Amino acid sequence: MSTPHWHADLTPPVAPLTELPPHADILVVGAGLTGTWLALALAEVGRPPLVLERAHLAAGASGRNGGLLLPGTAELYPALVARHGPAAARTLWAWAVAGAADVVATIRRYGIDCDWRPEGALHAAVSEAEATHLHDAAALLAADGFSGEWLSASDVAAWLDVPRPVDIHGALHLPDGGAFHSGRLVAGLAAAAASRGATFVEGIDVRGIDRRAGDSDAVNLQASDRRTVVEHHPDQPPIVVHTDRGPITAEVVVVATNAWLPELLPGFRDAVVPVRGQVLSSRPLPKRIIRGAWSLNNGYEYLQQLSDGRLVFGGMRWSAPDREVGPHFVAPDVNDAIHSGLDRWLAGHFPSLPITVERRWAGPMCWTADRLPLVGPVAAPSSGLRGDTDVDPATARLWITGAYSGHGVPVAPAAARLVAAGLTGRAMGPAAPLVVPTRPLADPVAVATP
Ligand SMILES: Cc1cc2nc3c(=O)[nH]c(=O)nc-3n(C[C@H](O)[C@H](O)[C@H](O)COP(=O)(O)OP(=O)(O)OC[C@H]3O[C@@H](n4cnc5c(N)ncnc54)[C@H](O)[C@@H]3O)c2cc1C
Repeated sequence: MSTPHWHADLTPPVAPLTELPPHADILVVGAGLTGTWLALALAEVGRPPLVLERAHLAAGASGRNGGLLLPGTAELYPALVARHGPAAARTLWAWAVAGAADVVATIRRYGIDCDWRPEGALHAAVSEAEATHLHDAAALLAADGFSGEWLSASDVAAWLDVPRPVDIHGALHLPDGGAFHSGRLVAGLAAAAASRGATFVEGIDVRGIDRRAGDSDAVNLQASDRRTVVEHHPDQPPIVVHTDRGPITAEVVVVATNAWLPELLPGFRDAVVPVRGQVLSSRPLPKRIIRGAWSLNNGYEYLQQLSDGRLVFGGMRWSAPDREVGPHFVAPDVNDAIHSGLDRWLAGHFPSLPITVERRWAGPMCWTADRLPLVGPVAAPSSGLRGDTDVDPATARLWITGAYSGHGVPVAPAAARLVAAGLTGRAMGPAAPLVVPTRPLADPVAVATP
């Protein structure tokens, strides 16, 4: 029952590797959306990586989410402008919207069979105050040349073949969004990356990342050495990745472990916090009655209906005293009280529908205090510190990407392309300095528990 619907009908998309290579050019830890997007982005530019995954593809948030593509960042545009200023907000929103477009283009380019439905995304308002906020967001987006329109309550009815729930006051419509089958998207990305040379190994636990003993300068190379590092120059000692199957060396390591990031890089313990989401799926309804990707109540609730008629609905962590925020919420345990609330919500909002819950699950998001991701190079892992100065990407051998604050579907591809560009000596784009992992960050626990 606690198996996510997204895992239920997955067939292994890549051939398992029986023998580990002793050395990798680029080694990625974690095979969720981030690890698979990065594998594809690197494979497309001729640098296919080795990806090591503790459990299986999409075992973490990527196979436990709502399956919604909501173009943009974790915070909506007005909040982004208020927090970062208009210029940075434009850069960040454009970056995330490009990530969303990448999702759509990649599904089409590789023919990924993930029930992609380009029916638009709706940020639906469940109060007058939220309606005002979303109405203003639509105006601000339009003023800056971005997609987004305000739909009145009666307009929203066009997305439903049942009576509109009375508490829906209208919605911000993002036409480039949609919904999909999460497990199949990750599997399709992995298969596309594997077809271009990326290697995935499941069931291998990375236990530590370190320099080779005695090589104290291994992560402090000069800028002029960068090409030599990336091109395996024998003078530059590799990083050692310790696994439960023994050590592997790599020229570059990218940590894509999301909520588990502090396990490998303890210096990030105070920069991120797991925030657990609770989700259910129903048995197939006789017909489709809800179109599009729905985010409601300031993103707390989320809803879609698959092509086979199943509803996927999650949220309501606001109803738990601790909001399911804190280090121990990395465990994907189902919270029965929240699930009772989810059941009541569905019955109350769609009383005419014969909804029977088929599966219930949970999964950890990874939040930062400013709700921007951590993407870029980091200092030596052995220091245990996050570092207070930026690391030069031209010489960096250890990178991270993750912590999308519950919004990884559009942001993971944008982040993966950024990292792939950095690792192959290309421009990382204007968003790069805004998401550096070494930026000052407040305590994420306080921010995630309003
Ligand atoms: C309930 C829920 C609903 C969500 N809904 C949406 C949504 O609708 N739309 C949206 O945009 N975003 C949503 N998100 C967020 C989105 O799913 C995430 O941002 C995204 O999946 C993160 O991908 P990732 O690959 O970085 O992390 P993950 O998918 O968590 O992958 C990390 C991987 O690393 C592996 N790993 C960890 N430690 C190790 C180790 N030491 N060695 C080897 N492997 C390791 C894990 O097993 C895991 O597979 C949701 C998240 C949750 C939890």
